[in-house]
Amino acid sequence: MVKPLIEVEHLTKIFSESESTFKALDDLSFIVEDGEVLGISGPSGSGKTTLLAIIGCLEKPTTGSVTIFGEKIDKLSDVELSNIRLNHIGFIFQEHNLLPSLTVYENIMLPLTLSKKNVKSSRSRINELLHKVGLSQLKDRYPSQLSRGQRQRIAAIRALANEPKIILADEPTSDLDPENSSILINFLRELSENNGTTIIIGATDPEDFQGSAKRTLRLTDGRLV
Ligand code: ADP
Ligand code: MG
Repeated sequence: MVKPLIEVEHLTKIFSESESTFKALDDLSFIVEDGEVLGISGPSGSGKTTLLAIIGCLEKPTTGSVTIFGEKIDKLSDVELSNIRLNHIGFIFQEHNLLPSLTVYENIMLPLTLSKKNVKSSRSRINELLHKVGLSQLKDRYPSQLSRGQRQRIAAIRALANEPKIILADEPTSDLDPENSSILINFLRELSENNGTTIIIGATDPEDFQGSAKRTLRLTDGRLV
């Protein structure tokens, strides 16, 4: 039997602030198969971002475990975690997190440089990706000179440039008009079909998956329903 790529077991995340504690994720267990497109839907505050951050090795679980590529991530050192993030995981955040002092091209190039990819092949890959989403002409602009929707698409390309094994997309189309949002979703769907990339998409409205997700988990108040 093929092992699942990601296995989440009894995952709980509690945020503590001075006197109060808040259970953002409550005993979640599920698996994600290699190459699958999984949708996670749930209203604002249901825990989507927290869950994606834990799977993406950005946050640690309070209890329970997440296993990726056969490794329990809570057992890994910070260096090992950042290596997994850099080499295997692409994030498309709700806020796009582009660096304001770098151009579009430089922003996309950054993760490729950090993971020491070949410059020439990186350059042609970036040009190909920009062309695909129709943004080649914006290459030398700074993030402040783009619309919100354009920034979101650039952030998506940055996440894909490294050809990660896993893409975590947190409400990736929330800033996009219908046309651009279907360009982005189709792009993700193609990646999964052609490259076997495993993709987890979070959204408030399951309609936002536009049929790309073969399976959808529904979160309410940090629990699967
Ligand atoms: P969603 O992405 O579905 O909107 P989040 O994962 O962002 O949900 O948040 C789930 C809940 O956890 C929310 O009630 C939020 O206020 C709380 N939360 C998220 N991050 C923190 C944090 N760093 N400290 C305290 N509470 C947090
Ligand atoms: Mg969120």
